[in-house]
Amino acid sequence: MQTKLHAKALNFSSIASLSLTEDGGLACPSVAQLLRPVEPSLVSASCYDILPRFHDEADLLSLPVVDPQGKPVAIIDRHQYMEFFARPFSKEVFGKRSLRQIQDEYRDAMLGAFPIATPIVVDIATSIDDVARMIIDTDMRHMVNGIVITREERYAGVVHGHDLLHEITQRKQAELYYLAHYDALTKIPNRMLFSDRLNQACREALRNGREVALLFIDVDRFKQINDSLGHRFGDALLKAIAGRLVGCARECDTVVRLGGDEFAILMEFIQSSEDAEVLARRLLETIQQPFLILDRELSISISIGIAIYPRDDNQVDILLSKADAAMYEVKVSGRNGFRLFSESTTSFSSERSSLEAELKQALANDEFVLFYQPQFDFVKQRVVGMEALIRWNHPQRGMLSPGSFIGLAEESGLIVPIGDWVLAEACRQHRAWQQQGMPSLRLAVNISSLQFRQPDFLQRVTRLLSETGVDPSVLEFELTESVIMHDASLVLDMLGELKALGVHLSLDDFGTGFSSLGYLNRYPIERLKIDQSFIRNLDRMPINQSIVRSIVALAKSLSLQVIAEGVETQAELELVRKFECDELQGYLLARPMPAADFAAWLLDGNAGMLSVERLIKPL
Ligand code: C2E
Ligand code: MG
Ligand code: MG
Repeated sequence: MQTKLHAKALNFSSIASLSLTEDGGLACPSVAQLLRPVEPSLVSASCYDILPRFHDEADLLSLPVVDPQGKPVAIIDRHQYMEFFARPFSKEVFGKRSLRQIQDEYRDAMLGAFPIATPIVVDIATSIDDVARMIIDTDMRHMVNGIVITREERYAGVVHGHDLLHEITQRKQAELYYLAHYDALTKIPNRMLFSDRLNQACREALRNGREVALLFIDVDRFKQINDSLGHRFGDALLKAIAGRLVGCARECDTVVRLGGDEFAILMEFIQSSEDAEVLARRLLETIQQPFLILDRELSISISIGIAIYPRDDNQVDILLSKADAAMYEVKVSGRNGFRLFSESTTSFSSERSSLEAELKQALANDEFVLFYQPQFDFVKQRVVGMEALIRWNHPQRGMLSPGSFIGLAEESGLIVPIGDWVLAEACRQHRAWQQQGMPSLRLAVNISSLQFRQPDFLQRVTRLLSETGVDPSVLEFELTESVIMHDASLVLDMLGELKALGVHLSLDDFGTGFSSLGYLNRYPIERLKIDQSFIRNLDRMPINQSIVRSIVALAKSLSLQVIAEGVETQAELELVRKFECDELQGYLLARPMPAADFAAWLLDGNAGMLSVERLIKPL
């Protein structure tokens, strides 16, 4: 990304024209831009010829001397030269002699005394930094005399030391400014520059009676991506994200990286908050397009919170917390969206960290519960499995669904111990049901990406199975497309080992990922769970009908089973059956229930099975 420093951001005008290199430094120009084409003197000229030039040309600081072929041979320092010839006898002794004669005759004895020095000669393409280094190596002796520049080894001009110094200090200042105000990784402004701009924008908005929008952006599940694919990948992704954000924003917006995976966009000159919503929608859409990072394709999403100045707050720092709070609400309600701050936005970051702390405590306090939702097989005409779904029985907020805390659990890494608990509890429950004489049903458990990526995941599962004494073949792990998209060979090994253990594998929310379908026949997956969004209003949405049809066709061609998830109506049921889905799961059959209710529902033939029979009318 080639970035031009923003002139407005810098206090010194000459720097605004400097551009940045790939690695974020300021591009170092060659000495060509400082070149002064001073007419040289010939080495055959007499000392008398030179004196008048120094007298007549006041800004001639030093005089380059060249041989008849135009090659530089010496440089004469103005002050030293004039001082030297002011001494008694100097003119008599040296005046008529040519520079060449003096050089030859007095080379050893006089070099120190006579003001003529061997110059530093560099090609015109040499960088300013390299020249500066050469001057330093000569103890700065050539700082005043300057450097002689050649083009194809012929004299081309001189560069004055003070021009060089000016250029270097200006660039150093710009570099220091840059380091303090720009993010080293993404090359976009950082929090520091952002605060300046935000304050300035708010002051102007207040004066002109206008509004400023602040978008707070957080990358969904970034921690997981970073943990599983490595920091190098994470860094490259952040750079690519920054590039897309900048691409979406208007020229006059400021896109900044606040730190980590947090970005912000400052929108000045808006007509209404509608402008911010338009940008938010564009950002969401653009970010969802797959990224190609280090030869790997990846799909991500972001969550955006918006606050408007001065409507939501007239204190600039509080405005940022409000946008953050609105963003956080998007996170807990399932990510990948935006929200405007409103009075009902539950408070700020303090609340968020307390939720994380509470989540940590929830395990210790035994506040999690598993609900079970049945899965029905069309051919066998009976319930063949169930999905374990976590709930958080929060002491103050009541029963919370996973949508409000799984995201945070994933981002904070707490999903790993929570996932362990889910697996252990589901196995314990299954075993208890077995002991009570319940029919053995397949038990589906959701496995999150981070959990799956733990190096000891397999050992944990093996240990758990042996501790609870559950037959591995009753278990089914529900993985999402994003889990199996990364690190193909690693995932393949892992899935192979799980399979060898006897655990079944299914692909959850199928159809929502951007993944290629090519992997399906390579992985030991047995079942696709068609995402609820395709089942919803199936009877009224022909496009969903074709999607479901093609998923089933694809599955059949790969000998995979298909389950339709989220079936809520009779019409939906009839269609998924007609399209030859093998199984169904949904509110129409039953909602997720606590273990005791599930057992009762299942065992109470009249209630449970009758209702199923009523549902599954022959076509
Ligand atoms: P999922 O794995 O796709 O689970 C299905 C979700 O759809 C469940 O929501 C279920 O209650 C809901 N559902 C089932 N039938 C219907 C229906 O007919 N209509 C509607 N509107 N919804 C239906 P739930 O329990 O809120 O879980 C949401 C998501 O949270 C799950 O999606 C899963 O991704 C995650 N999750 C749940 N439990 C766990 C867990 O133990 N570990 C992990 N890692 N994730 C979990
Ligand atoms: Mg699931
Ligand atoms: Mg699902």
